[in-house]
Amino acid sequence: MASTDLRGNERLTGKNLRLFLMRNIYTYLGNADISTVEFEGPEIAIYVKNPKFIVKNSDIIKELAKKLKKRVVIRTDPSVRKPPEETKAFIINNVNPEAGIDPNLIEFDDVLGEVVIRAEKPGKAAGKNKQFINKVLANTGWRMVVYRKPPLISNVLNSILSHMLRSSSERKKAFREIGERIFRDTIKGTQYVRIIGLGSFCEVGRSAILVDTGESKVLLDAGINPGGSGVDRFPRLDSPEFNIEELDAVVISHAHLDHIGILPLLYKYGYRGPVYATKPTRDIMVLVQKDLIELARKEGEEPLYGMREISTMLSRTITVDYEVVTDVAPDTKLTFHNAGHILGSSLVHLHVGQGLYNILYTGDLKFYKIKGDMATRLLPPANHEFPRIEALIMESTYGATEQQPRDEAEKQLLDVIRKVSERGGKILIPVMAVGRGQEILVVLNEAMKKKEIPEIPVYVDGMVYEVTAIYTNYPELLVPPIRNKILHQGENPFISENTVYVSHKEERESVMQGDKSAIILATSGMLTGGPSVEYLKALAEDEKNALVFVSYQAAGTLGRRIVEGDRELQFVEEGKVRTLKIKMEVQKIEGFSGHASRSELRMFYKFLKPKPRNIILNHGEPTAIQTLKNLLYKDASKLEEKGVINRKPEIYTPKLLESIRLY
Ligand SMILES: [Zn+2]
Ligand SMILES: [Zn+2]
Repeated sequence: MASTDLRGNERLTGKNLRLFLMRNIYTYLGNADISTVEFEGPEIAIYVKNPKFIVKNSDIIKELAKKLKKRVVIRTDPSVRKPPEETKAFIINNVNPEAGIDPNLIEFDDVLGEVVIRAEKPGKAAGKNKQFINKVLANTGWRMVVYRKPPLISNVLNSILSHMLRSSSERKKAFREIGERIFRDTIKGTQYVRIIGLGSFCEVGRSAILVDTGESKVLLDAGINPGGSGVDRFPRLDSPEFNIEELDAVVISHAHLDHIGILPLLYKYGYRGPVYATKPTRDIMVLVQKDLIELARKEGEEPLYGMREISTMLSRTITVDYEVVTDVAPDTKLTFHNAGHILGSSLVHLHVGQGLYNILYTGDLKFYKIKGDMATRLLPPANHEFPRIEALIMESTYGATEQQPRDEAEKQLLDVIRKVSERGGKILIPVMAVGRGQEILVVLNEAMKKKEIPEIPVYVDGMVYEVTAIYTNYPELLVPPIRNKILHQGENPFISENTVYVSHKEERESVMQGDKSAIILATSGMLTGGPSVEYLKALAEDEKNALVFVSYQAAGTLGRRIVEGDRELQFVEEGKVRTLKIKMEVQKIEGFSGHASRSELRMFYKFLKPKPRNIILNHGEPTAIQTLKNLLYKDASKLEEKGVINRKPEIYTPKLLESIRLY
């Protein structure tokens, strides 16, 4: 049925939408010999028996997608696909030898009609304008998908890919169900736009925001609070507004634990809908969740969920690239934009109704002015131009704190390293496996190359290796100097001769007992468990050593206690209480954070186009949020005086479980 939105505009949904699609699909692709048309999540999958038509008429397909305003994917009917062995031989014999494909890693997905290959140079394998992909399609009926063979072997990437291939029929079924729901007949139509804070309101951690339009419900993030205990660890899913059966979609901004930690738990409680995320977010998220399970087991606790839930989640995860508009509910469209915070991190743009209301949720963001030398940064700053924004939900982690400039932070880090290595001590840097770990590795490698610090071993322990491997898999998302090193100079900015990846307990022990100077990068970044805590126990009592914090320490974590001056810590070890005296030097270096500092948050608002009428501040401790509110209010007043905006925005600082009606 066609329904009308609050402004009386008619929109196509359900049966009418289908009729409209079919009519257009046959008009455009009538000669392609269509066998089936079905919804595949947010995409429309068209199966054809004439692959040559598709190859020759790629413009027509683009035109069709534009006309439908939908994502369209063309697949071949199984009856026209050549046997796998024959297809494999065709690829090996005809692919550009410079592509460096691995002939032993050619896999077939019968359900989707895709042949997956891995190449050192994916661009060369695909050919100019996808020439070789088209050639394979025309000759074999298989659509070739090229993955990068990353310079570092990643177990998690391999396991995700093989999971995708193994579960392709399950995924297809799930995607069809999801598609039916996205393109369903509207029931009530958009009634209002409300947001409900289930987590991360007036706090850092357990990010979860429900967006309710009366027609659809979308959850933004599903995190845990790493510093919380008991019920404070989880978002308030017991809120009366939250009903797992009514949930249309979960949208994930990025793969940090405080944004994805409970996601698989939703599947344990019966959620069967989709998760939307960028590809790197999907990869890192699986890694982080698996690690959470392992960590719980090591601590002798019952994990929150198991591999089964992660696998169900993965089968329902729909990856969306930056700047691609995707339908997630009959009245809601989603677009991801770069957030600059960690690899794959996104600003989430929701377009509700037809032109009715637009929300920008920043997740965690990094914003800075681009200076000439970006070589020691990994990611470009957050995107700041959008077609429309009525409400901005913005993180406020550093709303009250300024950070020193990045170059000064680097200088301070290198100074400590020089000083501690001269006295023969070890430098322990607890890092979040995702983001800070890679930033620091690049800085250290650069500094050693330039002889700014002595060439001492850099031991990297915990999940950092796997995440780094994932970073090297998506060089196109990194800043040009780093990207070019990986793509064109065959260099790996994350590794030098001094980098040693530690993976076994024995190796770790020999690092702790070694009498030479060394730098140790270990997870977790806030000393909430993992190898960093093991190293701390071994190194704390020797004043030659140093503990250097380079990232945000959340309230309630061991890292925060030490930063605030606690120098005597109690641990339970083998049933006995052990007191650890921290005699090592403790330093906290501000300026490496993946979060925008106070001035960067203000700068983000200043540069943001267009200016929103409503601003909701979240993801910050109460003082940070309050300070930022006052500052933004001042900034907005100036803009009003100058005539840049007609009136100042409403700035909300809601508490947990509060809801705001935006429309
Ligand atoms: Zn984050
Ligand atoms: Zn966060």
